This record gives sequence, structure tokens and C-alpha cells, in this order.
Amino acid sequence: MTQATLNQFSQLLQGENPPIMTYRVAMPQLEAHLFEVVLLVRGYSLPLLDLKMPVWTPGSYLVREYAKHLQDFEAKSGDKPLIWRKIAKNHWQVETSSLNNQAIEISYRVFANELSVRTNHLDATHGYFNGAAIFLRIPGLEKQPIEIAIALPQNNWQVTTPLPEVTGQINTFVAADFDTLVDSPFEIGTQQVYEFEALGKAHQLAIWGGKSNIAPEKVIADTQKIIEVEAKIFGGLPYDRYLFLLHLSAQGNGGLEHKYACSLNYPRFGFRSPDKYNRFMQLVAHEFFHLWNVKRIRPKALEVFDYDGENYTPSLWFSEGTTSYYDLTIPMRAGIYDAKTFLQNLGKEITRYELTPGRWVQPVSESSLDAWIKLYRPEANSNNAQISYYLKGEMVSLLLDLLIRAKHDNQKSLDDVMLKMWQQFGIEEIGFTPQQLQEVITSVAGTDLTDFFAKYIDGLEELPFNQYLEPFGLQLLGEDKDPVPHLGIKVNSEQGREVVKFVETGTPAHKAGIDPGDELLAIDGIRVTASAMSEVLQDYQEGDKIEVTVFHQEQLRQYQVTLAAPRPSSYQVKSVKNPTEQQQQNFAGYVGAELQKLPD
Ligand SMILES: [Zn+2]
Repeated sequence: MTQATLNQFSQLLQGENPPIMTYRVAMPQLEAHLFEVVLLVRGYSLPLLDLKMPVWTPGSYLVREYAKHLQDFEAKSGDKPLIWRKIAKNHWQVETSSLNNQAIEISYRVFANELSVRTNHLDATHGYFNGAAIFLRIPGLEKQPIEIAIALPQNNWQVTTPLPEVTGQINTFVAADFDTLVDSPFEIGTQQVYEFEALGKAHQLAIWGGKSNIAPEKVIADTQKIIEVEAKIFGGLPYDRYLFLLHLSAQGNGGLEHKYACSLNYPRFGFRSPDKYNRFMQLVAHEFFHLWNVKRIRPKALEVFDYDGENYTPSLWFSEGTTSYYDLTIPMRAGIYDAKTFLQNLGKEITRYELTPGRWVQPVSESSLDAWIKLYRPEANSNNAQISYYLKGEMVSLLLDLLIRAKHDNQKSLDDVMLKMWQQFGIEEIGFTPQQLQEVITSVAGTDLTDFFAKYIDGLEELPFNQYLEPFGLQLLGEDKDPVPHLGIKVNSEQGREVVKFVETGTPAHKAGIDPGDELLAIDGIRVTASAMSEVLQDYQEGDKIEVTVFHQEQLRQYQVTLAAPRPSSYQVKSVKNPTEQQQQNFAGYVGAELQKLPD
């Protein structure tokens, strides 16, 4: 925006009647998946009105081009059509010079048929939308309040949103500014809404999705425990009301954090098996933790959202990775699962890390910066060249927690880092720089961490798990139940074809030239399937030469491959033999259980 335009806007906003924006969202044709949106702008007196659709939504670091679903744009004032033009993929400009302050009406439709926590979905059963994916922003007026009126398509439908309702106006809500609008999902339909309290504050659990095996009372009881444990870390709850919005689906597993709500998507039959139930409570713990970490304790680069493009930060290892570490420990601390389950889950996470060769290639700070082009766009080579900032951030957070605890006899922990970050940056929402984050962690640890950051955050050195686990009487053990010589490929059966999905850098398969996409046919002349591969390879030794036959782009190829030494297929965190008194004390202080009583 030019200085002249800025001046015009500040005059407009300081005038007697600053512009008033009201959105009306209707859904007259549910089956067509079209939201009908009308924006009424009153008191706007500048000659041009710009309207822009966000290209991404905070919490999900990918340019999603929400404008691609916008159609039927129109602008008018009273009955008079206004001249408008589209000047960029997400930018509409309306001529408003001859209006004399008459209301401007912008209307459009948004196609909504993608069920995820970060998109819109409308069908005969409900309407769900995210502000960034449905509302246009008026540059210059972002700080103005916006009203949203929902026209229900059916009498028995209701609206659930964290936004406050306008007094006396049913189904009309107000957002303090555009950021708040974007941060407030809407669920419209016959969702089940459960009200409950935690620490004296009002909470809602709203569930959409039909038949499932969820037991809402149990989920609510466990959610209350999670809320209490997390509130204790940060010294209270910074809100009066919070909404958990849950979509039940076939395969979904996702969440999106907001300041006063979170959207969750989870398999409808994922609540009975203890494993799946625990994963769901981890998802709850994760998204809820975000109401502090990332929604209020934000990297400086996310302090002012640029809805037109990427917001680059190297600190998502903390915003997402540390949150992931907490989603592992919080359910244990809340008594939802025990220490043994926690260590098993930790082992699974470390296994995922140890089996990702991309950790040798991409530092975690760079992974964060490149979220926009890499993490959300996985391809066949991703695991060779990338490491997730969720996963490595979680691993680094584990090491930091153990480091701080070991040094301070469990009197201090990563909790103190979180509290300090909250006090210094979160309460006032002033944003932290990577340097400030390092300073806070260093001050809590009470030791110089320059080396730690250089090696493990900005560098590629292997994480020394055992060095950090040892003071707690723990060790990391690699295991392979049926050791097989290493070939280095992952194969899937797809409609009767055995397709190579991944070839690990530096392995025998990679050196031989096998590619993702190749169709695996035979090993040493015998047909092989994905499920039988491990059994077939068990008959061979390290150093044996095998002949691998594939179709490579429809051409028959035979490769001579020399098998490498077996590798662990999983890692587990176990007790050391004969732990000392000190180790047992440290362990008990860390997980609240006795090391001796852990089964091997
Ligand atoms: Zn997250």
C-alpha cells in the first residue's frame, strides 16, 4: 500500500462513521457444495475497493490457493452493478468512486467439498468452513470488526464457533478483526455439542460425522485431565471459553490449532483400541498445547500474517516439534497412559527418526524454513533429502528436556522453558526471534548451548540419544526380530503389481539403479511379492550377490545387487542393566514411575 493510500485509510478509519463490514453466509443448495457469501460494506468512501482471498491459513504452512474455489463474483450498490476487475489470482478490485457512501454489496460462491481441518466442506449433513478459505480481506481494513450472519438451510441446524454471538441477533457473530475471523472455524449442522468445565472455564466438544465408537464422556474426562496438566505448565488458562471441534471420518488424522478452538479430524472407529484412543488423546493434547505454543508464543515471522504469501521462520522445530514432544508426555502426565506406554511410543518416534536418511541432509531449522515447499509436498525422494521439523523437533526437545532435568535434578525441565517463553513473548504476543528462543532455553538450562544448536538445530550431527538417556537409567536399543541383509527398498502391492515406492540413498538398491516406480518382478529368477520379500531375503547373507528383475518404464531390467549388512528395523527405549540409585531417582522424577518396575 502506498503512503497516499495509507493516509486515505487512516482518515477513513478516524472519521465519524468508519466502514462496517458484514458477511452473510448461506447454503441454499447443499448438494452443490456451494457456500453463498455476501459481503456488505457500509461507510466506505474511497474510489477503489480491493478484496483479497488469503492464499494460506495459519497453522498449515503451504500456499493452498483458496481463491481457486471462488466463483460467480459480483459487485453492486443497491440495484446498480459496479465495475470490477480481477488483477491477480486472489485479488479483485471494485470501482466505488460514484457511490456517495452507499453500501457496497460483494457476492460470490465458494465450492466446498474437501473435508480437512484446513479447508471447507459442505454437504447434506453439515457445513464447515475456515475463514481464510471463504472470506475476502479488504487491505487497510484488517483491524476493523467484522460481523458474520449465518443463514441456516434447515430449522434443526445450529451454529458452533468460538466467536461470540451478537446480542439479540440469532446466528450472528462478531470477529474483532480479520485475524480473529481467520482463526475461528464454523461448524453448521446437527452436530452433538457437549458442554463441560475445566478449571472453572467453559468448554465445548462438538462432534460431527455420524456413526462411530466414540464414548464422549470418557473423551471429555480425559480432555479435562489434559487441560489441567497443560494449564499447570503455563500457570492458568488464557481464555473464558474453548471449543474442541471433532470431525469423524474414515481415515482422517489431523488437527488445526486456533486461539479459542481446535479442529480435529479422526477415524470414526478409532476410539476403542487403546492404541488408537491414545493417539487421539495425543492429538487433543497437541492441538490444545498450541493455544499457547504458536498461537500466542509465536516466532516473530508469524507475528503479522502475510495472507498473500509465505511467512518464513526457522523455528517451527519449536512451535511444532516441541508441541509434538509434549503430546507424547502430556497424556502420561495426565494418567491417560502409563510410563511403559510412553516409553514404547517414544521408541516408535525414535524409530521413525532413525529410519529417515534425510536427517543427514537437511538441518531441522532449514526444514522449518522450507515447510512451504517440502513437508506438505512429499514425494518419492523426500525421505532421502528431508527431515520433518515435527519429528526432529520432537527429538531435540526430548534431549533438551533430559539435559535440563539431569543438570537440575528434575527441579527444572522444559516446562520452565515453556513458562518463560509464555511470560516473555506469549502473554503480550510480541514474537520471538531464533536468538531469543536460544537465550531462553540457555538461561533455563544454565549452560552454554551454542554447540547444541550448531550441531542439532542448524547442523546435521547425529543425535546422541544414549548420552542423554543414560542419567535416567535408560538406553536406546536397535532391534531386528528377523535380521535380513539390507537391500534398501520399500515395495507396495498395487492391483497385483509390486511397485517400488522408496529407494534409500546409499543402499545396494540405490547403487544398482533401482528407482521408485519400478515394478519388482523377481529376485534370482523367482517371482517376489512385497509381503514375501523379507522372507525371501532371509535366505541370503551380507555380501551375497542377487539378481533383481524389474520393469523400469516398461522396459525389462536386471540388476546385480550386493546385499549389505542387516540393520535394526526398530528402536526401543529400555532400562539399563543395574541402574544406580541416582538413575532411578532421575527416572522417577521424569516420568513419575519406578524404573525397577518396568518390564524388560
Ligand atoms: Zn501442530
